[in-house]
Amino acid sequence: MIEYTLPKLPYAYDALEPVIDKETVTLHHDKHHLGYVNGFNAAMKKMAEAREKGDYAQIKAIDKDLAFHGSGAVLHILYWDNLGPKSKVKEPTSGPFFDQVKADFGSLEKLKAELGAATKAVEGSGWGVLAWDPAGQLIVLTAENHQKLVIWGAKPLLVIDAWEHAYYLKYQNNRGAYVDAIWQIVNWAAVEERFKVVK
Ligand code: MN
Repeated sequence: MIEYTLPKLPYAYDALEPVIDKETVTLHHDKHHLGYVNGFNAAMKKMAEAREKGDYAQIKAIDKDLAFHGSGAVLHILYWDNLGPKSKVKEPTSGPFFDQVKADFGSLEKLKAELGAATKAVEGSGWGVLAWDPAGQLIVLTAENHQKLVIWGAKPLLVIDAWEHAYYLKYQNNRGAYVDAIWQIVNWAAVEERFKVVK
């Protein structure tokens, strides 16, 4: 059984200021993200025990936990990688990723409008996701909680955490303001790098 671990943040806790405050990042990474890592490992342990005993009475609940916490852990790694200090943000204006964005959305502005609208429209907790559709195109998806509505095989390239814990200290109930501001700290170089790897 391979245990998940909590990766260190790729920057300082205050590196996303003023868009996302230090306290939110600290709680989000050290408490919430860690919670998904621990939840996944606990579910894996339960599964191993069930396997050992040959007792699969609880498998539905354990599988649900595995998907919930596993997806939560994976998406948070992406989320931290997808963001970076405002001073280092450079929106793409050329290159393979930019060409694909233009082909599938028309422009980077159109992509931001669509991904922003989708993220704001998530019912309750969830994520906005820019993904590479295995059919060969970029696509905007949303996930309720972490794991629902996922297309198996779709590879997320850019994810936006729309759970309240990602923004409520600074933005309270105003998810829209958080989503509108997050473009200031999107690390497009990381998205382009991921695109090169998955495409
Ligand atoms: Mn989160």
